[in-house]
Amino acid sequence: MNSTVYIVGAGPGDPELITVKGDRLLREADLVVYAGSLVNPQLLQRLKAECRVYDSASMNLEEICAVMIEAAKEGKNVVRLQTGDPSIYGALREQMELLSEAGVPYKMVPGVSSFAAAAAAVGKEYTLPEISQTIILTRLAGRTPVPEKQSLGSLAEHKASMAIFLSVGMIDSVVEELRRGYSDSTPVAVVYKASWKEEQVIEGTIADIAEKVKAAGLKLTALILVGPFLGDPISRSKLYDAGFSHGCREGNQ
Ligand code: SAH
Repeated sequence: MNSTVYIVGAGPGDPELITVKGDRLLREADLVVYAGSLVNPQLLQRLKAECRVYDSASMNLEEICAVMIEAAKEGKNVVRLQTGDPSIYGALREQMELLSEAGVPYKMVPGVSSFAAAAAAVGKEYTLPEISQTIILTRLAGRTPVPEKQSLGSLAEHKASMAIFLSVGMIDSVVEELRRGYSDSTPVAVVYKASWKEEQVIEGTIADIAEKVKAAGLKLTALILVGPFLGDPISRSKLYDAGFSHGCREGNQ
């Protein structure tokens, strides 16, 4: 019988930020295909000595799927190791389809996405009462098109908390679009390699972030966080308010 291919979230970089399940699957793997451009190679130190390892950065879709399908048909333990969480910006759907066409089942194992690691890097919570109860995960259109109604400029009009992927190399265009919704004084943080040793945070505002990012020479592996959530909160959550009752606690008012 064909074995199941596990599509595992490697987490954002820090090798301790993979799940316990992902770690176990890696240790048991006979074949691993990992996204070499972003997955921390330290994670590969825990593989069995005889495990076959492929870096998908230099492979095309058919090659990636061919090695996984062949090993799964031999009943081997196969892991597709993806950066962050596999459910966003992984170009995975087409891999899943080829696996299914070959009769090879797959399962996804979630991981810590870089947007969560970036919030940890700045020590801020995306959701604040009366400021933002919505997080927008998006990107600027590049070679991958973005549907018109989801353009960065139109999303900016919501003034929600935003984490922008895959776009730091186009920071001028990002800022131009963001100006459609956010004021010049809105805080922005660019987090480079969140949770890696090389992690770097550049803080600024819509008005000056582009210059700061260019001066730092950041072009890759960074997230652009935008929104008033990065500033000082002005309204507290009711959850821990002394006078607020809920299912687990009686308020004192
Ligand atoms: N599935 C991944 C995203 C892959 S797309 C996830 O859940 O995080 C690759 C983009 O993710 C990069 O261009 C960058 O914008 C972002 N990214 C990935 N790892 C990152 C990290 N450690 N720090 C900052 N941004 C990161």
